[in-house]
Amino acid sequence: MSERTYLSPPHMGDVERGLLLEAFDSNWIAPLGPHVDGFEREMSELLGGKTHAAALSSGTAALHLALIILGIGPGDRVLVPTLTFAATANVVRYVGATPVFVDCDKETWQVSPDLVAEAIADGAKHGKPPRALITVDLYGQCADYARLSEICATAGIQLIQDAAEALGATHRGAAAGTQAELAALSFNGNKIITTSGGGMLLSPRRDYIELARKLSTQAREPVAHYEHELIGYNYRMSNLLAAVGRGQLRHLPARVAARRANFEHYRRTLGELPGWSFMPEASYGTHTRWLTTALIDAQRFGVDREQVRLALEAENIESRALWKPMHLQPVFRDAPRVGGAVSEALFRDGLCLPSGSSLQEADRERIIARVQRCGQEAR
Ligand SMILES: *Cc1c(COP(=O)(O)O)cnc(C)c1O
Repeated sequence: MSERTYLSPPHMGDVERGLLLEAFDSNWIAPLGPHVDGFEREMSELLGGKTHAAALSSGTAALHLALIILGIGPGDRVLVPTLTFAATANVVRYVGATPVFVDCDKETWQVSPDLVAEAIADGAKHGKPPRALITVDLYGQCADYARLSEICATAGIQLIQDAAEALGATHRGAAAGTQAELAALSFNGNKIITTSGGGMLLSPRRDYIELARKLSTQAREPVAHYEHELIGYNYRMSNLLAAVGRGQLRHLPARVAARRANFEHYRRTLGELPGWSFMPEASYGTHTRWLTTALIDAQRFGVDREQVRLALEAENIESRALWKPMHLQPVFRDAPRVGGAVSEALFRDGLCLPSGSSLQEADRERIIARVQRCGQEAR
């Protein structure tokens, strides 16, 4: 049996190894340290220079702090795309607020601006207007901010951007992560660049990021003894991991190019098969193709998404269904929602293919050949 081919494995290089060992030898092992400052500064430059950044222990921590900074709490409602990873919705519960799930748009797979407007109008009618919208930049592509920002501004609700999957993407020429007052990045092991675990909170507002730095280091007041006026968290990134992050950041353009090349290859080959299509690239920006996501029409292809997944698994190739919509998750059974049929269909038919930037051509060919055989066997 060949070695396992993973969906999106870490891709490390000599630069990160050197920086990590240098950080280790300097004995800056604690959270905070020169690499944390450097990582924040370099990220801010990469994003266009107008963004402040706080390096944190995870993307989930960044989203949690975003809600706290905006003062969202018990009794509040927060709009969340139903097609996302659970962390986007979990943080709403962390602060005691209620998530309201919104379906996505068939064309972009991103949260539907029309349904966001409907959810806001609906909430207002029933005396429960939402306080905020968390957008998700799904699978490496930005949501439709031209419309979403306008809808939120008109309604007076806060916009938080979950850009965990979209570092390296653009929206109308601007870097992903700069479309909202608060945005979260993730450097979890499966993301386009990784620090093993880590995240960042971004904002054009310096005061928000200073507050995030304070809250993430136990909210100590600036006095010699331990003084606390706020509830704090232990959410800061360690200096060792920030060293890895700085190394990874230098490779970002190459990582985006490699993932897009994977996608192009899959599209050229598998796109020819009956019943196969791929997540569209929206006209308003570039998609990193963090994950190549395909839709399989079981009627036309002859086998369904799950049969393809199992056939690949039998060859030690990891592929995965799209995110299971939040409104179908037992833990969110009782949450209100607007729509849901589009994301249910995407979940039924959608498959994420191995998309790592270190994916070898021979492995990619093996994946393509196995999928082609699935179709031939069915016909
Ligand atoms: C990965 C991810 C997160 C969580 O990031 P962590 O760093 O793993 O906490 C949040 N939202 C989305 C959409 C993600 O894909």
